[in-house]
Amino acid sequence: MRHPEEHNKLAIDPDTSWIIEKIFDFAAHGAGAGKITRTLTSEKIPTPGYFNYKKYGLFSKFYDNAPAEKSYTWTISTVRGILSDETYIGNSVHGKQTNVSYKNKKSIRKPESEWFKVENTHEPIISKDIFEQVQDQITNRRRSTKSGTMQIFAGLLKCSDCGWSMSYCGKKNRNGSTMYFNCSKFRQLGKAGGQCTAHYIRYDTLYTYVLARLQDWISQAHTDEKQLLSKLLNSSDKEAAKAHKKQSAELAKAEKRKVEVDRLFVKLYEDV
Ligand SMILES: [Zn+2]
Repeated sequence: MRHPEEHNKLAIDPDTSWIIEKIFDFAAHGAGAGKITRTLTSEKIPTPGYFNYKKYGLFSKFYDNAPAEKSYTWTISTVRGILSDETYIGNSVHGKQTNVSYKNKKSIRKPESEWFKVENTHEPIISKDIFEQVQDQITNRRRSTKSGTMQIFAGLLKCSDCGWSMSYCGKKNRNGSTMYFNCSKFRQLGKAGGQCTAHYIRYDTLYTYVLARLQDWISQAHTDEKQLLSKLLNSSDKEAAKAHKKQSAELAKAEKRKVEVDRLFVKLYEDV
């Protein structure tokens, strides 16, 4: 919360800090965001949104006349957000979001490399050690699905057009549900704002394909290990070269655009 005396400074809020501690404690003991979300909800722990409503009257349109469950219905994205928020170790993070465009005010998350961080600006709730441990667990975690099966492609699939990750989704139908992946940029921003397409691929199609490739490589490895190795190394070289070519093209495009913008500015000054 905001510091009671010092403007623009954060202070620990004793009403809510125990919840943050509890969430990190769960995570440090190996619970994933999904499990933490379910536990908080079943223990009827009030959400940050509800605290803000109670204390500062924010989000009243969500909470006025809402059923009691609303005050403790946690979402997985809230929990994920808390677990990766450096505010709790005393750092200030700015510039996490930007608008889609000047006209479209929908805000989107910026990549972490573009965030602006200032360390140790206020008293921490969580120790840096615990925070680091939790970040490592999040990175290494292979998410398990609701049925408890391992999601073996988690974190491995990227859209070949835009480079965003492919997200795992399900669609209910007569025979149960079909699981598939699609481009998360398209999913988040849609066709108009995203400049990417769905890139839909069914989970079972991908699984069968990858399995067949693996089986093929295994049998090749049995017959001629050296030949397979040189073949695989070669193809990763080719891919790297392809990616490099694409990056250079993008860089050239960006540089061209910069020249255009510079020219525009010069023109603006001349006109004034
Ligand atoms: Zn894409």
